Amino acid sequence: MTRGREDFHVHTSGFSDDAHSPLADVLAAAVAAELDVVCLAEHVRASTTWLPDYLQAVQEARPQHPGLRILRSVETKILDTTGALDLPPGTEALDAVHLADHQFPLDHPTHPDDVREQLRDGRLSVDDAVTALLDATCAAMGRVAQPVLAHLFSVLPKVGLSEQDVPGAALGELAHVAARTHAVLEVNQKWACPSARTIAAFATAGVPLVASTDAHEAAEVGRWSMLDRLPHNGSPAPDSSGC
Ligand SMILES: [Zn+2]
Ligand SMILES: [Zn+2]
Repeated sequence: MTRGREDFHVHTSGFSDDAHSPLADVLAAAVAAELDVVCLAEHVRASTTWLPDYLQAVQEARPQHPGLRILRSVETKILDTTGALDLPPGTEALDAVHLADHQFPLDHPTHPDDVREQLRDGRLSVDDAVTALLDATCAAMGRVAQPVLAHLFSVLPKVGLSEQDVPGAALGELAHVAARTHAVLEVNQKWACPSARTIAAFATAGVPLVASTDAHEAAEVGRWSMLDRLPHNGSPAPDSSGC
């Protein structure tokens, strides 16, 4: 991970409805933070129609920031165990696609509260829940050319589980699929995940790691309040608390 020189997950108000700063301000903040690379990861759904406008806006902004590599991605949710994605057409022109666990991917996108309830009353076992999430994530990585695993496993605490519920062998298999599909693993500051154990498994498999703030306003871009607390060699501190 090139700490401090890249921010691989930021949003702008022009395209993400929950963001607060326009593209120009976000890019100015990236330059002020002395980033070499910023990756925009705007929220999309299958119904999104602004992809051409997004591509054009970045194209027009690039000459104003010659020292900054501006990558165009979108953040989509993984829908189910087949790895189906909530993506509009036309994403081939993007530099990456961020795959996110915003809902729990069972045989349909399931609200985390519902999954928590199913786990509590025994309709769903921990094993089956974890297997569904891993199957969905593996399959999703095979569906796009440049996958980025966005805040991997952030959904686990929402359903009352932790990354410790993912068996080591299954984690290793996920990491190998990530390597095979040329995926990138982000370490997400906003969600403080994935855990050091997960990061180590992916690093061992040869998956590139990137740092992300998941900034929704310009002031957060490239500002590493969490990563600055890591040891100086850049290795994550041991973490037993999960995601
Ligand atoms: Zn997200
Ligand atoms: Zn995001």
